[in-house]
Amino acid sequence: MTSKLLIVGGGLFGSQAATYARARGIEATVFDAGLPGAASPAAAGLFKEAWAGRRFHEPFRQALPVLDQLYGIRKVQLRHDDDTAEEFLFVPPGTILAANPVRRRVTAIGDGWLEVDGQRHEGWVYVAAGVWCGAFSAGLQITGKAGASYVFPGERRGRIRSIARGRQALAFVRDAETTFFSDGTAEVDYADAHDQQTLAHAESLGLTGVPVQRLWGRRPYTRGGPLFRRLGERTWLATGGRKMGTIFGAAFARRLIDDEIRP
Ligand SMILES: Cc1cc2nc3c(=O)[nH]c(=O)nc-3n(C[C@H](O)[C@H](O)[C@H](O)COP(=O)(O)OP(=O)(O)OC[C@H]3O[C@@H](n4cnc5c(N)ncnc54)[C@H](O)[C@@H]3O)c2cc1C
Repeated sequence: MTSKLLIVGGGLFGSQAATYARARGIEATVFDAGLPGAASPAAAGLFKEAWAGRRFHEPFRQALPVLDQLYGIRKVQLRHDDDTAEEFLFVPPGTILAANPVRRRVTAIGDGWLEVDGQRHEGWVYVAAGVWCGAFSAGLQITGKAGASYVFPGERRGRIRSIARGRQALAFVRDAETTFFSDGTAEVDYADAHDQQTLAHAESLGLTGVPVQRLWGRRPYTRGGPLFRRLGERTWLATGGRKMGTIFGAAFARRLIDDEIRP
């Protein structure tokens, strides 16, 4: 029987699963309700082996060929205050995110089906709904840690500054003709003061003036690390991308298609 993949969520997780599935000859449909607070549009799109560490070395290793095959991994150099350069791997979220998802909310799922606007669709189901995954799996606890990134007009030199342990302020050209800034803020209780602090960090890297865009999102955190779970014979769920959604989205897309569905 031929089947298609039905995906709940068009962020870094769902979009990579859709593109990987299509590359393996599987038809895929992405449903995304465009909910405010989605993490992926706010992401810088950077990753590096040191961020994954020993704990996440395996998913990192598995993600690289997926990202390279589907989108091409780029390199970007950011300069520290002493002018030394640090290199990062990079895939712009804009090249990953599903361009034309079905803009509808999925209201229910079961084994091998989902429901949209009261209508049932059948196929393999992949729930990739970020911090909203809890609505589809009883007892699943997800913590959203919010942060904002800002986009300034014009292309500036890439810069990076360490502002706390494991946290950096960075500015670089994520998308043409603009400079993207983020500072790693990850707060459960996000307030206006966090915005002010992020803008002050941006200013300290020379990004003054009025940003053209503010992107705010909640990164999904699951206890014990990122989560990939089989919910039924034909239904899976994945979330918990934390600060490395690009990598985990790719590793889980590969796992879903090559290890679970196996076309
Ligand atoms: C400021 C910032 C900077 C970041 N920088 C990086 C970085 O440099 N590198 C990196 O790897 N990661 C980074 N991240 C983390 C990364 O963004 C997340 O780990 C990742 O985006 C999570 O992806 P996701 O697809 O699981 O969730 P999301 O992006 O939140 O997507 C879930 C989607 O599901 C949809 N949805 C939910 N419920 C339903 C429903 N019932 N029906 C239909 N649609 C639904 C929502 O509309 C949403 O679009 C950053 C995050 C932030 C906030």
